[in-house]
Amino acid sequence: MGLAGKAFSGWRVLREGLTGNRGWEAHWRDPQPKTDYDFIIIGGGGHGLATAYYLAAEHGITNVAVLEKGYIGGGNVGRNTTIVRANYGLEGNSQFYSHSLKLWETMEQELNYNVMHSQRGIINLFHSDGQRDAYARRGNMMLSQGDDAQLLDREGVRALVPSLNYTNTRFPIYGGLYHPRGGTARHDAVAWGFARGADRRGVDLIQNCEVTGIDVSEGKVTGVQTTRGAIRARKVGIVVAGRSSQVAAMAGMRLPIESHVLQAFVTEGLKPCLDQVVTFGMGHFYISQSDKGGLVFGGDLDLYASYAARGNLPMAEHVIEAGMALMPMIGKARLLRSWGGIMDMSADGSPVIDKTHIEGLYLNCGWCYGGFKAVPGSGHVFAHLMATDQPHEVARHHRLERFRDGVGLMDEEATGAQHNLH
Ligand SMILES: Cc1cc2nc3c(=O)[nH]c(=O)nc-3n(C[C@H](O)[C@H](O)[C@H](O)COP(=O)(O)OP(=O)(O)OC[C@H]3O[C@@H](n4cnc5c(N)ncnc54)[C@H](O)[C@@H]3O)c2cc1C
Repeated sequence: MGLAGKAFSGWRVLREGLTGNRGWEAHWRDPQPKTDYDFIIIGGGGHGLATAYYLAAEHGITNVAVLEKGYIGGGNVGRNTTIVRANYGLEGNSQFYSHSLKLWETMEQELNYNVMHSQRGIINLFHSDGQRDAYARRGNMMLSQGDDAQLLDREGVRALVPSLNYTNTRFPIYGGLYHPRGGTARHDAVAWGFARGADRRGVDLIQNCEVTGIDVSEGKVTGVQTTRGAIRARKVGIVVAGRSSQVAAMAGMRLPIESHVLQAFVTEGLKPCLDQVVTFGMGHFYISQSDKGGLVFGGDLDLYASYAARGNLPMAEHVIEAGMALMPMIGKARLLRSWGGIMDMSADGSPVIDKTHIEGLYLNCGWCYGGFKAVPGSGHVFAHLMATDQPHEVARHHRLERFRDGVGLMDEEATGAQHNLH
């Protein structure tokens, strides 16, 4: 099947709509694993699929397999609250997320896929003079990076989001840092779009194929063991988010990563009542409204290490209390469901995109609870690293060794090595 064979166009959508939608084809093949590839990507989440896509699209490397133990989109890429932004403050992350947001802005054309990227804007609320100063600093950093930021006063926020609680004397809203280019996207469509794009360029996406071992000989990676047999490869990338410590341990590595649960919630569909993404500055709570009308919200980690992709009730209560303090009207909405995902928390709240001490083995992890917005950027720079053996310019700070030598730690929120304060 050529690249054009599965393409979307207005004409095609119209034709299929009039003929019962019978002409669409599967977005990707279901190939048997070969015994040998040039490159293997472990993990078919957003980052793994984007890496495979850019290896093929930008570096012409197509003898690639993505090995996914479950199904495409079943991990965190399909569990997050879909916020996309570039409002980081520190050297390293600031450049990286700015790069990633630019890739978001051309993603739909690049992939010929509707990922419903909606730049509806993000407002980070502040509730004290000190918090306003911190957000002003962050806004200046964003502007210096070429991104957008506006400091709103209370009336400026009210004009955009009238439904907040402006009479709360305990947590008064002083204003907000507005990032108009931030927004949301349809999360699983992002996975499907990169999967389809990689498949169309010849990458094998192999689902239900768990990696159980990493083969290393004389300091070089030679392949992997899987539930579907041994597969050889020259280069292997570990891109497994919440399972990073477990998979890296297969190569004898101990990572500075802890896995923690993060929950999210969605209400029944409501009429449009919230145009932007809003974050509360006095508690862990953030909210947006999905295109189907559900209020999508979340808060902090469950605050204990776990591999269970479900959350605890005390944190659910905490998040909902914070929501009620900010936006009491949501108390009238019925909660439809909640879910959890496993976060790969690094000690400085920032990711690792690096080679390892084993030749041919590369590592991409530590996205904490913010890796969805990183999907195109991470795939782009990790493909660059794997293809050229040189770090991409915007990812040169994301070294694994910083946790050993202490040089260049990107302590994004100045909370030190305490995961629950990130
Ligand atoms: C509730 C929640 C809300 C979030 N909200 C946001 C947000 O608003 N904005 C944002 O930017 N980020 C957010 N995140 C974080 C974001 O979802 C993650 O950082 C990101 O999705 C992780 O990268 P990924 O997509 O590659 O992970 P995943 O989709 O988890 O991919 C990793 C894959 O590796 C596979 N795998 C694991 N072990 C093996 C193995 N041994 N062999 C083969 N395959 C294996 C897994 O099955 C999985 O599919 C949120 C996360 C959660 C859970």
